Amino acid sequence: MTPPTLLSIVIPAFNESANLQPIVQRLRAELEQTPCLGEIIVVDDGSTDDTARVAAQITPAIRLVRLTRNFGKESALAAGMQAAQGQAVLFIDADLQHPPELIPHMVVAWLGGADVVNAVKRSRGPETRLNRWGAGAFNRVMSRLLNFSMAGASDYKLLDRKVVSVLLKCPERVRFFRGLVAWAGFRQADVKYDVARRHGGSSSWSRLALLRYSVRNLLAFTSVPLYWVAITGLLMSAFTFLMLLQTLYTYFFDHSAIGFTTVIALQVILGGMILSALGIIAAYLALVYEEVKHRPLFLVYEPDQATPAPATAQQNPLP
Ligand code: UDP
Ligand code: MG
Repeated sequence: MTPPTLLSIVIPAFNESANLQPIVQRLRAELEQTPCLGEIIVVDDGSTDDTARVAAQITPAIRLVRLTRNFGKESALAAGMQAAQGQAVLFIDADLQHPPELIPHMVVAWLGGADVVNAVKRSRGPETRLNRWGAGAFNRVMSRLLNFSMAGASDYKLLDRKVVSVLLKCPERVRFFRGLVAWAGFRQADVKYDVARRHGGSSSWSRLALLRYSVRNLLAFTSVPLYWVAITGLLMSAFTFLMLLQTLYTYFFDHSAIGFTTVIALQVILGGMILSALGIIAAYLALVYEEVKHRPLFLVYEPDQATPAPATAQQNPLP
C-alpha cells in the first residue's frame, strides 16, 4: 500500500497569537476533507507577542520555526519552505484572510495535475481606495514584466515539490514570492476566493512599507528603469545639441544674447533629470549591494545550539 501524501502547510506569523488557535482548528477540519496527511509549520517571524508559546501549546504536532528577529514575510515564507517535507507545500496567512475552505479544492487541482495552484482574489475585501489603486497599478506593471497575469494574485498558493525545489535554489536575497512562482512557470491552475476580514490583530503593513516593498520588487524583477535612464540621456543630448546650434546661430548672425529664462529652464530640467537618473542607479546599486553580501535570508533560533548550558538561557534575547 502506498503511504498517504504529505501536504505541508506553512503559516508565516508575526504577532498572530490571537489567530493561531482558530486557523489551526480550521486547517485540521479542511485537511480531513482531503486524502492527504497534514504537516503544519508555523514560522514565528520574530513576534513580540505570545505567538511562539501559543503555537507550541496548541498541539505538539505543530512544527514551530522561530526566526531570531522579524525578517519580514518573504523570509518567513522561505523559512517555512525550507522546513517543509511534504510532496506539496501550501502557504496561508495566519489571520484567516485566506479562507481555509479553499484547501480541498486546491488539493483536487494539484492531484489533477497542476504543479502550482494559485488562490486568486475575486474581491479584495475591505481596504482603502488608495491601497486598491496602488495594488492594481503594481499588479499591472508586474504582469507586463513577467508576461503572466498577476491580477488578484496572492501568497495563498499550493506548490508541488518540484516547484518548491526550484524556488529553494533561487539564491536572491530580495525575494518576491508571487513573482518567483509566476516566473518559475510549470502547470498553473487558479482557484478564486474573496478576501475575508482579518480575524484578530491588525495588518503590519504601513502605506510606506507597501510602497517600499513594491519598488524593491519591481527593481528586483526588471532592469527597464536603467534603460530609461540611457534613453532619456540620449534624447536630452539630441535636444541640447539642437539648443547649442540655435545658440551659436544667434551668437554669430543675430548678435543677440540668448534668453536668461532658457538658461534657467535648462539648468532646472537637466539638474532634475541627472538627479533622478542617479537615484535610479543608486536604487539598483543598493539592490546589488544587498545581494553580494550573501547574508542568509533568515536565521532560525535553535535554543539547544545557541545555549550550550541552561545557565545562559536567561541571557537569550527571545523569551
Ligand atoms: N507576516 C510575517 N512577517 C511580517 C509581516 C507579516 O510573517 O513581517 C505574516 C502575518 O503574520 C500574516 C501574513 O504575513 O500571516 C500577512 O500579513 P498581514 O496580514 O499583516 O498583511 P496583509 O494581509 O495586510 O497584506
Ligand atoms: Mg492579512
